[in-house]
Amino acid sequence: MGKAETLRNVIVIGSGFSGLVSSLLLSRAGMNVTVVEKNVKVAPLLRNYDYQGFEFNNGFHYLGGYAAGGALHRMFGELGLRDRLNPVPINPDAFDVFQGICDDPIAVPVGAARVRAVLGKAFPGNEAVLADYCEELEKAFRDFDFLNLGEYFIRVDPALIDRSLADFLADRGASPALVEFLSVYTDMLLGVSAREVSFLTHLLGVGAYFLSAHTFEGGGGALADALEAQARENGVLLRTGWEATRIESDSGRRFVGLRLRAGDGREEFVPANACICTIHPKRLLALLQDGASFDLFAHRISGLQDTRAVCLFHLAVRRDAAQRIVSNYHLFHRNEFGGLQHRFTLLPDFTRPPGPAASETRMTALVTAWDNDRGDSCPGGKGPSCQEHAPAGPAGGENKEPAYLAGFRNRFVARLEEGFPDFREAYQIIGITAPCDLDRISATWNGSLYGLKCNSSRMRLTPRGPMKGLYLAGQSIIAPGIFGTLVSACMASRHVLRRRTA
Ligand SMILES: Cc1cc2nc3c(=O)[nH]c(=O)nc-3n(C[C@H](O)[C@H](O)[C@H](O)COP(=O)(O)OP(=O)(O)OC[C@H]3O[C@@H](n4cnc5c(N)ncnc54)[C@H](O)[C@@H]3O)c2cc1C
Repeated sequence: MGKAETLRNVIVIGSGFSGLVSSLLLSRAGMNVTVVEKNVKVAPLLRNYDYQGFEFNNGFHYLGGYAAGGALHRMFGELGLRDRLNPVPINPDAFDVFQGICDDPIAVPVGAARVRAVLGKAFPGNEAVLADYCEELEKAFRDFDFLNLGEYFIRVDPALIDRSLADFLADRGASPALVEFLSVYTDMLLGVSAREVSFLTHLLGVGAYFLSAHTFEGGGGALADALEAQARENGVLLRTGWEATRIESDSGRRFVGLRLRAGDGREEFVPANACICTIHPKRLLALLQDGASFDLFAHRISGLQDTRAVCLFHLAVRRDAAQRIVSNYHLFHRNEFGGLQHRFTLLPDFTRPPGPAASETRMTALVTAWDNDRGDSCPGGKGPSCQEHAPAGPAGGENKEPAYLAGFRNRFVARLEEGFPDFREAYQIIGITAPCDLDRISATWNGSLYGLKCNSSRMRLTPRGPMKGLYLAGQSIIAPGIFGTLVSACMASRHVLRRRTA
């Protein structure tokens, strides 16, 4: 290729956050962009669970690092999203509360200095290491620039990328209790322990929340709407209800186009010069003509995990019982060997705090359903009983809840009522997003939360895919979450644009 005038048409597989951001970056640079999405709506993972006109968040609850003037805030402005969204700060004194790790709950505030003070008190003797930690955190964010990632990664100390969080802490004599706490945090937000995660990934993925914690009015649904409106306004062609079934290449293993299938069985071939694929690399393998992978790509997927599958319970809670829940509550339990087990996370709706007039408020609880890494997988065997399951609820008519889901429900109810006795008789489960629902609306499978382990040993700062003209983005490439997927979209788009001008 290498001819500016020929690289005009780009196709993006998947309309999640990374796919829509990629489409925006490319369309604003003058390219013709088509996004294909197998679901009928764009950004189905970000879309809310709608119950009688009230929306619960599925794949988006809060984001870190959206402080005014910061890199994420600037980038949302650059993409034209900022004016379409109304950020809502989450309780700055305690956006996250961890119970069951230390004797007292750990209430994490916003602001590096305040985090340092809280953690210094919860884990005495770590003052020096916490000072170094906060300095690195502030430095990482001061220099971060989504539009110049190449330069950022060149400038950044390689030790931050190659070394794990646990190594950083160990070098400074951190106590095991502090390492355990940060490990739990990392595991929750990135799917990896302190031993596995690169220190930089930890700073950008977890530390981001220490600097600021926000949600958007209208939650993930508002974010999805803003992305969709902005993409349409920029001329992006959004083809929902079309699944990519085959990636075609020529004899020189150069990408030439996509085969698509619609829900009604129609098939089509769409030619394009380049493709950004945002689905999990292992899922992408099934779309390749010969299933073969190039070395770079094989390297990319080795060690890639599915991570744990989660189940979301959407609750209506009586106002008097809900009133004291003003933070995201993460409940842990120590087993008989002293190991920590995640019981559940309770996520209040920060955009609609219980007002005096409201008799009840809504919350979402997140529990681990099974652990794909350990070989546990869908108890329904991904057979028809799982796939057919629609979110249960009184308005849903016939209750199609499969037996395994009833098991999760019973276990969750027992844990919730043990952790919050005043919730008894004061709440109702009015909907469930099961792992198979997440499987259907995201790019991973088995209800996998993140689809990857952000392991420092598999960190590859390249979006190159298994053939020329095919680039990778999405939560399985660099890191999950809004921050991680945005990094991946910027990297992939930059490569496409660079090739255009090569
Ligand atoms: C329960 C849950 C809670 C979360 N909470 C937060 C949070 O509070 N804050 C945060 O920052 N992050 C959160 N995340 C993570 C965040 O939602 C994801 O990392 C991010 O949305 C992933 O975006 P993506 O573009 O990589 O993938 P996806 O959103 O999964 O997009 C991929 C798209 O590809 C489509 N697709 C799949 N196969 C095909 C095909 N063959 N052809 C066409 N289309 C296809 C899928 O339908 C999907 O829409 C959460 C995730 C989950 C599951």
